[in-house]
Amino acid sequence: MQTKVVKFGGSSLADAAQFRKVAAIIKAEPERRYVVASAPGKRFSDDIKVTDMLYDCFDLASKKENIDEAFAKIEARYNGIIADLGLDFSLDKEFRKIRMAIEHHAGQDYVASRGEYLNSMILAKFLGFTFVDAESGIFFHSNGTFDDKQTYKALSALLEDVEYAVIPGFYGSMPNGTIKTFSRGGSDVTGAIVARAVHASIYENWTDVSGMLMADPRLVENPKVIEEITYRELRELAYMGATVMHEEAIFPVREACIPINIRNTNSPADPGTMIVPKSDRPVPTVITGVAGRKGFSSITIEKDRMNTEVGFGRKVLGVLEDFGVSFEHTPTGIDTMSVVVSTSSITDCKEALIGRIFRDANADSVTIDDNMALIAIVGRGMVSNKGTAGRAFTAIANRNINIRMIDQGSGENNIIVGVDEDDYTAALQAIYGAFVGEA
Ligand code: ASP
Repeated sequence: MQTKVVKFGGSSLADAAQFRKVAAIIKAEPERRYVVASAPGKRFSDDIKVTDMLYDCFDLASKKENIDEAFAKIEARYNGIIADLGLDFSLDKEFRKIRMAIEHHAGQDYVASRGEYLNSMILAKFLGFTFVDAESGIFFHSNGTFDDKQTYKALSALLEDVEYAVIPGFYGSMPNGTIKTFSRGGSDVTGAIVARAVHASIYENWTDVSGMLMADPRLVENPKVIEEITYRELRELAYMGATVMHEEAIFPVREACIPINIRNTNSPADPGTMIVPKSDRPVPTVITGVAGRKGFSSITIEKDRMNTEVGFGRKVLGVLEDFGVSFEHTPTGIDTMSVVVSTSSITDCKEALIGRIFRDANADSVTIDDNMALIAIVGRGMVSNKGTAGRAFTAIANRNINIRMIDQGSGENNIIVGVDEDDYTAALQAIYGAFVGEA
């Protein structure tokens, strides 16, 4: 039998009704053996996630304030779920222990992690699965980075003899035994790690949307769901802000060639988005998705006969390196070179940076233009389809928008376009319209 690892996000486990949907999904396929759970999320838009309630408790305790009321609300969330599910089960002992630890100034990560810990206990009980604490299977180095070697060894051994288990997401142990969490949304990472540890055939990530969208729905009305996307394409789109998962969740499964399927707990019949190592499936829309961000600046350097000067680029980029500035793109002309950087990375050192480039590269002129938005047109389908760039640029020109920069990635699966921030939305809509049709 194949093994599937299924991770459910906070909104999928926010109350008893959601727990029931989750149980139905898990029980529908016996391959769904290892379940990674988040803490209860929002039940309605201005509800508060349990993780945030726990961070609040921690803050109160560190200011030596009373946590009675704040902690009672957390208990009520869990007790409500237990009662509504009709479980003969109590977390009172756990509540007492956690409460005491908070009052005795337990670490922030320990406090935050209890959201997943308690929720996973309830889910395990409801499903009749074994509760396996992430504390005994997921490890960090003392510098806080993830310890893959120790984790995969321990986790594989831990789950080897457990047929069906619930594992809390978001945290693991430090070498000194204290609890450490991943960054926010980190249960996605736990899911990926578990999938890798048990050699899962697939990592299903269940959330509240039916997959990744081809464009940001705040900018494009009703964008299409991406049926299949490669890890590489996902990285390109995620970098530009299109995310459905924690960024770090890609790596453990990508290395082991395990596909990820983004699914919707509230609409389980939807196939969602498959994230795969490689795909030969034709992309009918040519592009897989389009995403972008504002807040970039372009540094333009001019120098006569730049084209014949060996090492010019190194001098310019060396200055950026000295200032700790990471660059995004470097489009060049014959005697000009531009370096695109994020505006926030140079705000405090603009003048000094210009001065140093002048000096080190012996430039004729150095100027910085802000207010640029970058749009990434991403798709493996572009390699085999001629005229992709033409289609995108024509659509942008038809809206009377000036393109400030163009860069095509060497793998031919992305084209980056720089436009004025004011033109950002219209340009993105034009590109989407050109490939998918006007929304
Ligand atoms: N509960 C944690 C958070 O809210 C982790 C997660 O849900 O993935 O960030």
